[in-house]
Amino acid sequence: MCPQIPLNLRNPAALTKHIGTHILFGNRARLGDNPCGFCLSTDGSCKIWLDRRRGKNRSVYVDLARSRCPNKSKLSLGQPKDDKVRCTNKPIYCPIEDCADTVPAFWTYNLLIHLTKVHGLEGPRLTKYKELYEVSAEELKFMKKEETKIRNSRTTAAKLQRNHDWTISEAHRITPPKQ
Ligand SMILES: [Zn+2]
Ligand SMILES: [Zn+2]
Ligand SMILES: [Zn+2]
Repeated sequence: MCPQIPLNLRNPAALTKHIGTHILFGNRARLGDNPCGFCLSTDGSCKIWLDRRRGKNRSVYVDLARSRCPNKSKLSLGQPKDDKVRCTNKPIYCPIEDCADTVPAFWTYNLLIHLTKVHGLEGPRLTKYKELYEVSAEELKFMKKEETKIRNSRTTAAKLQRNHDWTISEAHRITPPKQ
């Protein structure tokens, strides 16, 4: 899928951006409904929980102790202060009552599928959550450029790794830095 692109766990934003290109432009039938935004795992073994702090700005963090993902990292989930175009894929709790807090967080790129498939939402009942699931045209354009960059570096890497049969999650598994 995407072997040998160095993924940096110390830069969660770059990591989720890279994985985000696969979620947006990869084969969704193969990726399924809820690919992990940290590692692209599709087997449902990744569970991201959030830690809602009561600080000044009521910051939300990934609860690293409780979350399960080989690439879990301390992604900042707040609203960025500038309006630079960036990857907005981040874990949030489902806005539907009964679902939130009892199941792990969903990645925003996957939320639309979740809301329509699991909750059967459509029309205004769906679009009231648009702000949560919608990916802007600017973001799509930005992510497409990122994907092209990755694709180009991948071609070179693929030449070196031709004999390796990588699977999605192995290709995106990071060995966490030694503490
Ligand atoms: Zn990749
Ligand atoms: Zn994961
Ligand atoms: Zn839900």
